[in-house]
Formats: sequence, structure tokens, C-alpha cells
Amino acid sequence: MTLLIKNGHIVTASDDYTADILVEGERIRAIGLDLPVGSHAELHDAAGLLVLPGGVDPHTHLDWDFGVARTADTFGSGTKAAAFGGTTTLIDFANQNGRSLPEALRDWHDRAASAAIDVAAHLILTKVTDQTLADMSTMIRREGVSSFKLFLAYPGVLMVDDGTLFKTLRVARDNGALTCVHAENGPVIQVLIEEALAAGHTAPSYHATTRPSLMEGEATHRAIRLAELATAPLYIVHLSAAEALAAVIEARDRGVPVYAETCPHYLFLTQEEYERAGFEGAKYVMTPPLRDRHHQALLWRGLGTNDLQVISTDHCPFCFSEQPLGIKYSKQQGVGNFNRIPNGAPGVETRLPLVFDGGVKQNRMSLNRFVQLTSTAPAKLFGLFPRKGTIAVGSDADIVLFDPEERWTIRAASHHSRVDYSLFEGHEVIGRVKKVFLRGSLIVDGDKWLGRDGGGQYCRRGEAGRLS
Ligand SMILES: [Zn+2]
Repeated sequence: MTLLIKNGHIVTASDDYTADILVEGERIRAIGLDLPVGSHAELHDAAGLLVLPGGVDPHTHLDWDFGVARTADTFGSGTKAAAFGGTTTLIDFANQNGRSLPEALRDWHDRAASAAIDVAAHLILTKVTDQTLADMSTMIRREGVSSFKLFLAYPGVLMVDDGTLFKTLRVARDNGALTCVHAENGPVIQVLIEEALAAGHTAPSYHATTRPSLMEGEATHRAIRLAELATAPLYIVHLSAAEALAAVIEARDRGVPVYAETCPHYLFLTQEEYERAGFEGAKYVMTPPLRDRHHQALLWRGLGTNDLQVISTDHCPFCFSEQPLGIKYSKQQGVGNFNRIPNGAPGVETRLPLVFDGGVKQNRMSLNRFVQLTSTAPAKLFGLFPRKGTIAVGSDADIVLFDPEERWTIRAASHHSRVDYSLFEGHEVIGRVKKVFLRGSLIVDGDKWLGRDGGGQYCRRGEAGRLS
């Protein structure tokens, strides 16, 4: 199969030019001016549109069971939503959950079989024995799982101690893998939660007050110091706070290989959302929580100075209302106790338009930086580049045609996730995904879905933890 994308404005992390792209089979075969239209080629005119590499979202929780709740999206629905948002590859989390790593990964593969875009897995480590450490190298070499995530939050559920994190960092380093950390001080937060509940403070807003930015800063600093001692690269997930960013900047200025991502909700929303009437604030309960406005400006600055390298979504959707789609879990579990609200929010479908509108259109970043943050840098850091993350001869033909002028309004009613709300309901944005190609196949054409459950492939990843 051959297709030709004519007259598009191609944007990569480094370049910005008008040319045609010839795709043969699943890969980009040629890029040039006035490429001839072969007799059998499928022709797409991209005049007036940006031609972007498919988005790479390195932080999603699809069909994720964490005991007291399960996320609303299957791999089928979540990857379809991602595709409509211009993302063609996501890296999702497989949770060890007390099992061996091979068992945990097998279970994830069973669920991920319905993915409609390409997917890869990070492994979350919750119980690290000598066998687990030995299994890590098998996972890296044989399964292409070159990143591991540990939690410094959620004691008794997901949290590991500092010694465990330190041991994991060294094994990851020795095997070319990247260690990712959820950095909040779990035990201190636990004390604050218990005190709040004892005082009768049960509303969603207490989710934010019991998870102070200072304790995100503390855990980020601690994780960085452990990584330094282990001489291992480190990746801080969903960084939300000025204190955490300060720790990252301080370390990077000394040449420590620490990287960090933030998410659109921290760039566009504040903790005022928790004050919404009734129980509406529960929609915004994710960890870390939304912060005070002054953090936002610093996050934007961090993206500009490359102290933050990635924008992911942390798509972790729970329905707001009870069982609208036969889904057993919802935010309503937390009525009367903020600590029982499932932690997480949707976002996989709105990342590119939000960052384009708030970043490029508001003159906070260049087109190249937009592509770098949403596609190229995550592909490089997590071992998917150059197959993913760029438009180049030989790369997978994961291509997004994006209208940089179309104005539209984000509505849950028209999105493709199974979740029943959007964090950005009613937000008007400029910039819209028009067509999406996954390895040369057109899977999104305007409002039309041409992809299919199971149409995605599993990506074995190479060495992770380097950005150059
Ligand atoms: Zn997450």
C-alpha cells in the first residue's frame, strides 16, 4: 500500500518546512518536493494543515484495577480516544500488584490486546525481592520493558521504601532502563488525611489540602538524591509543584540526569476547581492535586527552559456518576469521605489541542517545542525513537494532520473515552486533529473512526533514560 501526503507543513522537534511525504507499507519511504503521484497511491492533500508526528503519551492507566476501583476505559476505548486526540503511541502501566513481573506483564498483554494504536508498557514495582530484581533484566532484554515506576505515596498499597527505590535504581541503571517515581511523601500525607477526617472534613477540597506541594517537593528531592547516589537516570512523573520543580532544576544544573513530565491539567487548571458546588469537585481529584495559580507560571517556565521535558496526560478515568455504562466504579464512592474518591482524571484525547492552543497560540512555545514535548522527547526518553516520535525516512508512518486555525469547544458529549465528563468541559481551543495515520493506515478522518480494536501493535522498547 502506498500513500502520498501532499503540500503539508511538516513540523518535527527540529524542523519546519513544506514537503510531500510518501508512505509505503507502514513506513515513511520518502520526503521531498513534488513527489510524483503513483497510479495506485492514496492521495491526501494537506495544504493549510500541519503535518505532525503522532503523539506519544507516556503516562496512561487503561483498564487499570487498583483494588478499590477500576478505570473506565478499556484499551479499545482509551486508545480510540487517544487517536482522536492525535496520539498514536501510548505507554501504559502494568502493575506488579504483588505478583511476579512476568505474570503482571502477561496480564497487561491480555488486556492490551484490544488496543487500536501502538502501545508499550512500564512496570510498576510494588514488592521488590531478589527475584524481582533478577526479573527486571529479563523484562528489559526479552520483553522490551525498559522503564519501571515506583511510588513514594500510597502507603500499604503502592508505596515502596527508600531502600527499595535505591536498589531498583541501580539495577535499572545497569540494564539501560529508566526509573520513574511518583514523588509525594505518603506517610505524612496519611497523617494529614486521618486528621482531616477526624475533624469532620470530608469534602473533595480536602484531597488538595492533605497533599501539600511541600511534600511533593520533599519526595522529589529525596528521589533525586537516591538516584544521584545510585548514579542512575530518574524520571519524575506528573510534576505539579514549584517545590518539586525547584529540586529538579537544582539537580539538572549540577548535571544530574533527572527528567520530569507535567500534565495539561496542571498547566490550565487550579485548586479552585475543588470549590465547585455539590460533589463536582470530585471530578478534579487526581494526584498530585491541582495547585494554586502561582505554580502554573513556573511550570510553563520549566517547559521553556527544558527543566520539564515531557507533557503526558496521566489519563486515569473514573466516571463521575454511578454506573452509566455498566461501569462498577465511580467518583461517587467518595461522597462523605474524600479519601475514598478514586484518584484520577481523563485527558488522553485533549492533550495536543490544549498544548497547541495554550502553548503555541499563546506564544509560550514554538511549534518545534510543541512536537518535542508531546512526541519526540517521550519517544527518545523511553526507547521508542526513531521508530516513533518524528517524521523521517524509515520511521513508522504515524502522522497527524492538524488544522492550526480551527476553533472548537471541548465537550465530553463528543469525546471517545467511556468516561462521562471532561476536565475541560466548555473550554474553547484553537487547533484540531483532522486525520490520523497509524503505520500508514488512516484511522481517524474528521469525525469518522476507521481504526479497529486490536489494530495496535505492542512496541518493544530499547534503552531508556537518555534524551540526546
Ligand atoms: Zn498515573
